[in-house]
Amino acid sequence: MEKNMKLIECLIIGSGPAGYTAAIYASRANLSPLLIQGIQPGGQLTTTNDVENYPGYPEGVTGPIMMEDFKKQAERFGTEIMYGTVTKVEFSSQKGGHHKVIVDNKTTFNAKTVIISTGASAKYLGLESEKKFMGSGVSACAVCDGFFFKNQDVVVVGGGDSAAEEATYLAKLCRKVYLLVRKDKMRASQIMQKRVLDTENVEVLFNHETIEVMGDKTVNAIKVLDNKQNIEKVLDATGFFLAIGHTPNTKIFQGQLDMDSVGYLLTKPNSSLTNLPGVFASGDAQDSIYRQAITAAGSGCMAALDAEKYLFEIEE
Ligand code: NDP
Repeated sequence: MEKNMKLIECLIIGSGPAGYTAAIYASRANLSPLLIQGIQPGGQLTTTNDVENYPGYPEGVTGPIMMEDFKKQAERFGTEIMYGTVTKVEFSSQKGGHHKVIVDNKTTFNAKTVIISTGASAKYLGLESEKKFMGSGVSACAVCDGFFFKNQDVVVVGGGDSAAEEATYLAKLCRKVYLLVRKDKMRASQIMQKRVLDTENVEVLFNHETIEVMGDKTVNAIKVLDNKQNIEKVLDATGFFLAIGHTPNTKIFQGQLDMDSVGYLLTKPNSSLTNLPGVFASGDAQDSIYRQAITAAGSGCMAALDAEKYLFEIEE
């Protein structure tokens, strides 16, 4: 095991909007941050084609270009960026204690503060055909990509609050929305279910599962199974939206940081403070509700400001 002897003021885990925004703020505050990029440099946005709802890009921007811009801005102020994945952490529970962060099972870093921005991953069904059309009709974010399906027919999969919300959101843009629910009932709250059922252009198909996403270069139909009657059908649709849940990328913090039953990190109200001093959480790893690039960036800023304040306090 290699040891990096340098004591780092601020170590940031993750390279989505939260991580890079934390890096921009921390580097401008002279904290010389080290940012570990993680398995998917740039985060979830790198799988999105066009981002049109991030302020400051009036013409829109592709997810990968936007994240490259974030990276350049962080580097401009001296953020050190390292390609690698954090495989283990040993956080101190003492105020002023040093936190150990191990990258790729190989290199150990010691840091006074750690900002966690490891994000969340949308769940997918795991079909080959779904993978094939990722970004060309398959999406896990209606708010990000719904606009591209204006006046078209789309399919949403899921029966929880996310699916209900995505279906009603898409219903305002699209001609028709099919909502595929695999059981005979939805898990969504009563009020959300009612909203879906009351929306004229949403057709809820209970007991329906996806067999295949069909198309040529882009999606043009979805083959589904009515699992009650055991009948296969083909739905004409150009968009296929997954809303079957997200998994926060927080497994390595289990047992050290407080999290909810799903794994979202818990922070103190109106702050990025976790249960351990000097460890801060931002972005989708701690947000099960908003999950937008702009909200992640905002919470990354909060984490850097909280880290700066903490460093000031322990060095007083
Ligand atoms: P949930 O875990 O609540 O629901 C996931 C849904 O996806 C379930 O209906 C589940 O079906 C279905 N599903 C899972 N795997 C598959 C699969 N392989 N094929 C087909 N369907 C599948 O996730 P959500 O993202 O909806 O919600 C997460 C949390 O966030 C919840 O606590 C929710 O209340 C909250 N939330 C709140 C909102 C609000 O209040 N505005 C908006 C969005 C989320 P099954 O039921 O059969 O298991």
